[in-house]
Amino acid sequence: MAEKYQNYINGEWCDAGSGETFENRNPANWNEVVGIFPKSDGKDVERAVSAARKAWDAWRLMPAPERGMMLKRTGDIMTARKEELARLMTREMGKVLTETRGDVQEGIDTAYYAATETRRLFGHTAPSELANKMNISFRFPVGVAGIITPWNFPMAIPTWKIFPALACGNTVVFKPASDTPATATKLVEILLEAGVPAGVLNLVHGGGSKVGTAIVEHPQVDLISFTGSSAVGRTINSRAGRDLKRVSLELGDKNAQIVMDDANLELALDGVLWGAFGTTGQRCTATSRLILHEKVYDKFMDMLAESAAGLRLGDGLKSTTDVGPVINEGARAKIHEYVEIGKNEGARLVVGGEPANDGDLAKGWFYKPTVFGEVQPGMRIEQEEIFGPVLSVIKVNDFDEAVRVLNDTEYGLSSSIYTQDVNRAFRAMRDIQTGITYINGPTIGAEAHMPFGGTKHTGNGHREGGWEVYDFYTETKVVYVDFSGKLQRAQIDVEY
Ligand code: NAD
Repeated sequence: MAEKYQNYINGEWCDAGSGETFENRNPANWNEVVGIFPKSDGKDVERAVSAARKAWDAWRLMPAPERGMMLKRTGDIMTARKEELARLMTREMGKVLTETRGDVQEGIDTAYYAATETRRLFGHTAPSELANKMNISFRFPVGVAGIITPWNFPMAIPTWKIFPALACGNTVVFKPASDTPATATKLVEILLEAGVPAGVLNLVHGGGSKVGTAIVEHPQVDLISFTGSSAVGRTINSRAGRDLKRVSLELGDKNAQIVMDDANLELALDGVLWGAFGTTGQRCTATSRLILHEKVYDKFMDMLAESAAGLRLGDGLKSTTDVGPVINEGARAKIHEYVEIGKNEGARLVVGGEPANDGDLAKGWFYKPTVFGEVQPGMRIEQEEIFGPVLSVIKVNDFDEAVRVLNDTEYGLSSSIYTQDVNRAFRAMRDIQTGITYINGPTIGAEAHMPFGGTKHTGNGHREGGWEVYDFYTETKVVYVDFSGKLQRAQIDVEY
């Protein structure tokens, strides 16, 4: 019997007002129903926003370190329940257990970082240009935060948003992806157990078009933090922009790894296998392009083809599995469509290129790790986000061409270069136009205390993680204190 889950609104667990539900199935075995969830709509969102608005006054006035202690307790509970959460996540979205443990760990790291940040919500003091006057800035919460998340990091991404939002004194209406609602519900349960009061955190399950749109368009929601596809991000930005809402967007990507002729090839191979096929290629930072120097192209392609063909597909709960399923039927169909596009564009299919259906794999959404060689810059498989285990390999003549090819996309999240030449490494740090660059490491591996986000169409300039996200969740208030006992006029009474 599948577990039945609920929304959490105004301090109560409840069904959708309509009574409707949806199922969530295991992508490694579609016969297994992981849970049944409320299919909510705008009316449920209305109740959630009104609760969040009412709870805001008390929450914003609570001393920030007291809020921080709740986040610390959240980290402690997550630590104690790490294995159970990771197993549920693997059943819900397919990635292998070592990776789902890492996803939970990222949430734990984010909790402890957020807890300490509540003692560091610094403002500034600055000298005044006038005598007997002081200038101070403070940071205050913004209000109600609408938080909309994707399925590929079902724990880490919600924590990147919810923890700093709460730490800063905002209340939250949270809509997780409908492919990963169980992990999201566990996160909310843990925050409540850690002491977050009624109304401060509200969870509304359901689809993007009804629940997501209602959150984005609600006049009492002050800011939106969204991670997901570029198409949805654009829609959200234009809708929220009409009401002049603050919006943070983390969107699609086309990350690349460069391997120069002086690289340690074994190391670069480990990097690209992990970058391209970890999480079945469904990470925002996944390596979807490999840019190879011509001098190492043939050798590296042989090494890559052999290793990629040897990766073992299967249920992520099994220790023998290297690569789990993709998230759902639609995703697998899209991946296969891109493989056909690549073949028609004239790229050479080296490995994979088809669904995997043998034995137990027949019950899940599996796709063979796929490598295309002889990919030309500008091909659709080189430019468009596929979001699956498909790697496009491009041959270049030198470092300048490698950087040019890497930069020539509309996205700019992550990048990597393998080289032993320190001068090249520093030029890469300067000239590659992405929010994150790894030197001698794969395109994946962000740490919770560093800012995370991309340039160009990967987002709209905000960052998650680290200290920068705290700016997004706070308003700056400047206070001038004049203790001169007379009218003093800035820019008029003093001229230098
Ligand atoms: P998606 O855009 O389909 O959905 C993301 C969330 O938005 C879900 O909760 C969905 O229900 C909701 N949504 C859908 N339509 C909506 C609407 N009209 N209004 C409001 N909300 C709506 O993305 P996905 O398939 O869940 O995730 C994969 C995408 O996320 C990929 O493009 C990937 O690159 C991107 N991603 C980016 C980052 C990053 O940090 N840049 C991180 C992870 C994932």
